[in-house]
Amino acid sequence: MKLLDGKTALITGAASPRGLGKATAQLFADHGACVVILDLDAAQAEDTAADIGEEHIGLACDVTRKADCEAAVAVVLEAYGHIDILVNNAGITQPLKIMDITHEDYDAVLDVNLLGTLNMSQCVIPHMRERKTGKLINISSVSAQRGGGIFGGPHYSAAKAGILGLTKAMARELAPDGIRSNAICPGFIATDITAGKLTPEMMEQIIAGIPMARAGEASDVAGCALFLASDLSAYVTGSEVDVNGGSLIH
Ligand code: NAD
Repeated sequence: MKLLDGKTALITGAASPRGLGKATAQLFADHGACVVILDLDAAQAEDTAADIGEEHIGLACDVTRKADCEAAVAVVLEAYGHIDILVNNAGITQPLKIMDITHEDYDAVLDVNLLGTLNMSQCVIPHMRERKTGKLINISSVSAQRGGGIFGGPHYSAAKAGILGLTKAMARELAPDGIRSNAICPGFIATDITAGKLTPEMMEQIIAGIPMARAGEASDVAGCALFLASDLSAYVTGSEVDVNGGSLIH
């Protein structure tokens, strides 16, 4: 059964080859959706969309810039006529200790993760409200729930915890408009977000704390996003869904 036939999904930060966004885009496409890959670099976003199939599109969109988000949404509405699903996936992290975080670091991490989620959501909500249907899926992190301790610093935990608050507040405010808002909290997933800064010792220590004794795969998160994007989760809103191999059980 195809779960997303006829749906259009926007996924931010989805051009990273081993990332959660691309895996999610691929799975959504396999389930019949038209996907829009948004990322910083236009050519990389276009190539990623082409990899997935010819009916998909890739656009440059820096989620920290509201004008970029507005422009992308306008292009997508022109191309497909409707937007059903937004996955706020774009994110960056920095492995800093509390006293090492500068104002610049704080702005960089908060802006991509939290402001980016607000910006893109604000750009699709009026359209979703008009149609009385829509799904917002926001990628938070186990770091928000357990206070970091995997890779990202305290500012990353704070940004991801902010996403949980935003997700829940949007769920409450937008439920009467038929819009559901949920968050996913991935644990440690093998992608390129650690930018080569993860040492073998850090890796060993992380795996030791995971009852399932393995890093997660991007497809593990994509499967959860598919559930939240489809009608299988019709009565689920305001939730934070853990995809962490048991590393945080609460
Ligand atoms: P990734 O680094 O592979 O991909 C992130 C993508 O976001 C990149 O393609 C990057 O170009 C893009 N991006 C960065 N700044 C952007 C901006 N301003 N506008 C648009 N795009 C931008 O990372 P990933 O591991 O696939 O992470 C995806 C999401 O999952 C992030 O929000 C991350 O915080 C979250 N997450 C990841 C893990 C993990 O272990 N990998 C765990 C928990 C949460």
